[in-house]
Amino acid sequence: MSGRIVILTGAGISAESGLGTFRDKDGLWTRYDIRDVATPEGFARDPKFVLEFYAARRGNGANAEPNPAHYALAKLEQEHAGDVLVVTQNIDKLHERAGSVNVLHMHGIMDGDLCNNCGHRGPTGDALTTASVCPACGTKGQMRPDVVWFGEMPYHMDEIERALAKCDTFVSIGTSGEVYPAAGFVAMAREAGAHTVELNLEPSSGDFMFEERRYGPASEVVPTWVEDVIR
Ligand code: NAD
Repeated sequence: MSGRIVILTGAGISAESGLGTFRDKDGLWTRYDIRDVATPEGFARDPKFVLEFYAARRGNGANAEPNPAHYALAKLEQEHAGDVLVVTQNIDKLHERAGSVNVLHMHGIMDGDLCNNCGHRGPTGDALTTASVCPACGTKGQMRPDVVWFGEMPYHMDEIERALAKCDTFVSIGTSGEVYPAAGFVAMAREAGAHTVELNLEPSSGDFMFEERRYGPASEVVPTWVEDVIR
């Protein structure tokens, strides 16, 4: 197979690295209400609770290791003759730690900080508290993790849409297809004439949009698919 490949990844690719997904049976959403921990309104209501939620997730993320699915995508980027772009909804850095270079984090990263007041973005320093001060504007109590919450605009959308408009293959891995705009990427890729592939534990709600579908744990189906592509 040749040409440009755009890969969308979701929480499912990191599940076997020990990072919980959101919508599965034991997912985070069953224990937390998204309105409390993943919306600007939730942060305004109870910033301490939100900062503690993300501090716990930062700890888990730092201890997690990439799994064979992350390594397979890094190998694909190295060995495939055309461009390979990973667009991830995940806020962990497991793609980069496995060796992928061309990665866009559309929902931000868990080890970044953002100032709600001036928009300053930077790497995480000390653990954020409600007393943290923005290094750029000096405002206290407005520092938060640099992750995109529901109701906010994802990062890199122009670049992602340009890549989708000229891709030859679009692959969706470990995502339930419930969260827009990512859930709409397959339609954009189809419009561009791309071959569309879904790799997931089970069929997603939008499975009918994909021409090729392979189901099973990401650590198994992703390496097999990559070998078929670079063969
Ligand atoms: P989701 O929880 O809605 O869907 C996860 C999908 O992965 C499901 O379709 C499930 O069947 C599949 N899956 C579960 N285990 C799998 C495995 N071992 N192999 C392959 N597939 C598996 O997550 P989503 O679609 O990414 O969207 C929800 C939001 O959750 C996103 O905005 C994302 O930012 C966020 N999130 C990120 C992380 C992370 O950074 N690791 C973790 C949880 C949620």
